[in-house]
Amino acid sequence: MIKYDFIVAQKLVNDPTDHHQFISMAQEVKMNLTKHPQYITADNGYLTDEAAEYSYKHNIITIMPDRTESMKIKRKKDNNRFSKTHFQYIWEEDVYICPQNNKLEYQNNRKLNNKLNRVYSTTKCKTCPYNQKCCKGRKKEIFHSAHPLRIKMREDYNSDLGKKIYKKRFHTGETYFAIIKKSRKFPGIQRKTIKKAQTELTLQTIAHNIKIIHKHLTPH
Ligand code: SF4
Repeated sequence: MIKYDFIVAQKLVNDPTDHHQFISMAQEVKMNLTKHPQYITADNGYLTDEAAEYSYKHNIITIMPDRTESMKIKRKKDNNRFSKTHFQYIWEEDVYICPQNNKLEYQNNRKLNNKLNRVYSTTKCKTCPYNQKCCKGRKKEIFHSAHPLRIKMREDYNSDLGKKIYKKRFHTGETYFAIIKKSRKFPGIQRKTIKKAQTELTLQTIAHNIKIIHKHLTPH
């Protein structure tokens, strides 16, 4: 809960990725708050077609960057100036702008790894001086998901409201982890079994929420 920095749900899993955690966390939040949240923000690791479908079905606006936007946020160093992260997507026009300032327009839909993608390209590649470096003699093609709800999520993320909401996410995550790691000198989960480790995390969460209640009840 961003207004007070309460932790409204937590769950310990031993899955190395966040890929399949979105729906179970959203359900946990719903159970604890007894209602579906209006907005959810999450990082790109949670982004799947299923997450987009769940959000739409439950009338939740989910603000989540796609992989390219996520790399921009993390400012991951990408020395290849012709990789996708250096192609700017202009969502109002539905085009990509390449490093040579040419527009790659939507061409068709094509399957990649069994998922339907929108494909963007330009005829300018043929005469481009960077042709060999960028696409090795062929034309450059940029792919992004053609799932209608993933496109809707992309629009939500790029909207003014989406950007405003996503900014708050940094504050929330950083505050919680800064408090438990630095102020309380939390060395990380110590218990070995998942059940005991979950109990340890729950105690840390309760301690955090009690501190927040105390802070807001104490007269200033
Ligand atoms: S090869 Fe094509 S996409 Fe790449 S920089 Fe040149 S015009 Fe742009």
